[in-house]
Amino acid sequence: MNTKLIEERLADPRAKLVAVTKKHTREEVDELYRLGVRTFGENRVQEFLEKYNPNYDWHLIGHLQTNKVKYVVGKVSLIESVDSLKLAKEIEKQAAKLGIVQDILVEVRISRQDENKTGLDPDQLDALLEEISKMPHLRLCGLMTIASNTNNQALIAHEFDTMKEMFDKEKAKYPTMTILSMGMSHDYQLAIEHGSSQVRIGTALFA
Ligand SMILES: *Cc1c(COP(=O)(O)O)cnc(C)c1O
Repeated sequence: MNTKLIEERLADPRAKLVAVTKKHTREEVDELYRLGVRTFGENRVQEFLEKYNPNYDWHLIGHLQTNKVKYVVGKVSLIESVDSLKLAKEIEKQAAKLGIVQDILVEVRISRQDENKTGLDPDQLDALLEEISKMPHLRLCGLMTIASNTNNQALIAHEFDTMKEMFDKEKAKYPTMTILSMGMSHDYQLAIEHGSSQVRIGTALFA
């Protein structure tokens, strides 16, 4: 465990730490908890359910299939990866069944480099947020993104700036938006400098 990084991230008021524990064990999650980490991110539903401890705070950060929504709604405090109307509707339906309001982020595909990247096309953001804002069992809490996987720092910085602009614009319309989730092990410092309020760090915590 990189205790120095963990302490440094927990002490930084600019951005909340989500510890990404995919491919790591329950024991490692417990160890992070002992070190003060309170929020954990998993990207696969099956793996999340195997590790789920209701005493901890969990975020779903990976692509979510509609048929798996029922397993996570109410168990995770935040679904960070809503990227379609179909998915939003299914979360709304499952949250209504439980009589709860599910907090969500909309994931935006900011990188133009990688065809496989997940997330909503920025052109479709206005329309999706408008639909989501009408769903009584969803709370729109902000945006999430994964920057290009490149060494080109200027490109990554540009993507973060673009996200921050988009976030500020939408937040003016939807005041429940308070979270801009961007930055991973290799780019979290840049992300925070460019307006991130939440970082999702995996690899670097375990180094
Ligand atoms: C794995 C993952 C992370 C963390 O990546 P690291 O490079 O290990 O820090 C962050 N966000 C998402 C969506 C992920 O799947």
